Amino acid sequence: MTTLAHILSDVQQQTLQQLVDEARNVVVCCHQNPDGDAIGSMAAATLLMRRLGKKATAIMPNRYPDFLAWIPMADEMLAADSQEEQVNKALAEADLVFLLDFNTLSRMAQPLCGKVSGCTAPRVLIDHHLSPDADCQLTISHPEMCSTCEVLLRVMSDMGWTEGLTAPEATAIYTGMMTDTGNFAYASNRPEIYVAISILLQTGIDKDRIYRNVFYTHNEGRFRLLGYLLYVKMEIMNELHTALITLTNEERSRFKVKNGATEGFVNMPLEMEGMRLSIFLREDTEEKGLIRVSTRSLDDFPCNELCAEFFNGGGHKNASGGSLHMTMDEAIEVVHRAVMAYKEKLKD
Ligand code: 5GP
Ligand code: MN
Repeated sequence: MTTLAHILSDVQQQTLQQLVDEARNVVVCCHQNPDGDAIGSMAAATLLMRRLGKKATAIMPNRYPDFLAWIPMADEMLAADSQEEQVNKALAEADLVFLLDFNTLSRMAQPLCGKVSGCTAPRVLIDHHLSPDADCQLTISHPEMCSTCEVLLRVMSDMGWTEGLTAPEATAIYTGMMTDTGNFAYASNRPEIYVAISILLQTGIDKDRIYRNVFYTHNEGRFRLLGYLLYVKMEIMNELHTALITLTNEERSRFKVKNGATEGFVNMPLEMEGMRLSIFLREDTEEKGLIRVSTRSLDDFPCNELCAEFFNGGGHKNASGGSLHMTMDEAIEVVHRAVMAYKEKLKD
């Protein structure tokens, strides 16, 4: 396999071509608390639209964590929670809006969700989460793909837009594919992924440097906190092959770590032999009484079902999240109830 098969139907291709041809001012949005795939796909789509002669503005609900700040054009992205005037202006002028890396408008949170809902420009959704239900002129949803960045590259390939693909675009796309698969450690068995990577590498990007830019940027506080969480705080439910880690805001400030500094912690307990499920609870830094939940699993354990049933959330089979309005102690109780309810799938 050396080329990518088409993923767009003829109708989808024509619709997208027409929407882009007719647009002059394009806005590109992603989900709240953007990750590498959200920022990567947003950067690539914005740069692509500019290459096609459009005025393009990237709007994120809130700012990305510092370890993504080096991504091409990230410094130009507007944050809806702090740059209201510029965001309003961009959306007022918009005649096409791309929605990237989420399946439902509420994942943008307020105020951006309301602003985009109220904007009359046509919308195109490009995503890899299950069950898209955002009201859009065009929905390009591929849950089988590793990342929104992969979907975006495939769309670009179908549309002929990979002709002239630039290194900054390829860098941004590679970043999203790499971060959503833990550097191709999971959700990355499809051979097409490596055809896509080959196309990206041909632009001359430095994938080894991208890896270091993302993963080798941690400060001392993160490492001390990680040591503390694994040594002192991790609860292992051996019979259920499950680990639980919890983090309070008091601990966050004790170790002087910012939001985003705990990225990747939830994956680590799965490195213990036999583990099937890892759950990470952390107090929200802004909203008192809100506990954020992250879950990761191996093989067939359905994190998305667990999160939908117990944590007001959802996501992918092996990586899901949600939130609980309660104290940390109460949230820990919910976790214990949740894993007991799923004990048949967790036990041997
Ligand atoms: P994370 O644990 O990295 O915050 O989230 C992992 C995945 O879970 C995300 O990519 C997203 O698909 C999903 N997710 C996280 N939080 C929520 C939520 O509150 N609701 C839903 N439906 N999905 C979520
Ligand atoms: Mn993603």
